[in-house]
Amino acid sequence: MKIIRINKTAWKGGMDKSRGKYHLFGPVEERDHHRFKQLDENQYPDMDHGTCVRSPKALLFPPSQVMLETCLDESCENHHIFTQPPWDDTPRAVIGIRPFDARAIGLLNLNFDTDEYRDPYWCDVLDITTFVGLAVNTPSRSDFSTTAGSGPFGEQGLDVLLVDCEDHYLAKILTDKGDAFLKEAGFKADDKKGDTEIDQETANDTLQKMKEKAEAAIGSVIHTDRLKDKTILDLHGASFWEEVAFACINCGTCTFVCPTCWCFDIQDETRGQSSQRIRNWDTCMSPLFTLHGSGHNPRGEKTQRVKQRFMHKLKYFLDKYDQGIMCVGCGRCVEGCPVNIDIRKVCNQMNSYEPLTQSGL
Ligand code: SF4
Ligand code: SF4
Repeated sequence: MKIIRINKTAWKGGMDKSRGKYHLFGPVEERDHHRFKQLDENQYPDMDHGTCVRSPKALLFPPSQVMLETCLDESCENHHIFTQPPWDDTPRAVIGIRPFDARAIGLLNLNFDTDEYRDPYWCDVLDITTFVGLAVNTPSRSDFSTTAGSGPFGEQGLDVLLVDCEDHYLAKILTDKGDAFLKEAGFKADDKKGDTEIDQETANDTLQKMKEKAEAAIGSVIHTDRLKDKTILDLHGASFWEEVAFACINCGTCTFVCPTCWCFDIQDETRGQSSQRIRNWDTCMSPLFTLHGSGHNPRGEKTQRVKQRFMHKLKYFLDKYDQGIMCVGCGRCVEGCPVNIDIRKVCNQMNSYEPLTQSGL
């Protein structure tokens, strides 16, 4: 848990040194927004980025991914036998990931790495990835991470937490993976006489004050304390769903921007003599998501789909894993919904919902 000081004048040099062992990923500005991507040799993470529209979950769970492939030409060796495409297992470092997105990766992991099943595509990449987080000094107006189990200085899921202190970063080393990355970059925790040494009490005080200031800047809150006590049936039958869903146009934006949504579809595609099994992000907001081969659709109405999204995030997940809600409060869906459907309002409605009792009828 040591904190070191990294002067910004040494930052780019450190990134370059680390490239000898790691592939670097980070936020890069493209057109009018930032996106996490693998950095080219002369590229550096833009550490002034706000909340990226697409969350860094896409680095481990791409929107479209070839799972298996084969050759249909009978003259090919192993034709018609599906195999996983080769992948690059060089260690990766994701630089500048925000704390709420790191927590989201931990929540996604509950789905991809279970006692019954280990998703190799997700788990193998997670194993070789180091997360170097960047605290949020100035939260966005839609950020409600403090009441969604994370916060601007949250540490869950991170190997290092960087805090921007104008001319330098304070780097809190949280795991051995994080320590190894910083060493590779030349920022050593045990460099007694070097530039990185800083009095630990002073550093802790600074971090605490900055954390409190950032948390105080978050004006938006959700209430989740009573969700667990509600029954699924009561919430399912609540009177507000029609009104919540009324304006929804089923665009799916809320699910595609969400760092904790994990639904996907699997398609087989054949082109010429090559065949691939591909998984693509899918969305519960689309009527096709639950359309059966028989033509029956258990969630054919949009109210059913909107209800499903909120019930999954705020009730089913909470009940199943007992690790809080399936939302980290990043605010992306709040900003992105074209008709202003707001999870904060729905969460508070669900939390305070009281079904009419027999005597109240
Ligand atoms: S539900 Fe909305 S606020 Fe919550 S994690 Fe997903 S995108 Fe962010
Ligand atoms: S972003 Fe808004 S309109 Fe689009 S599917 Fe989600 S709730 Fe509906």
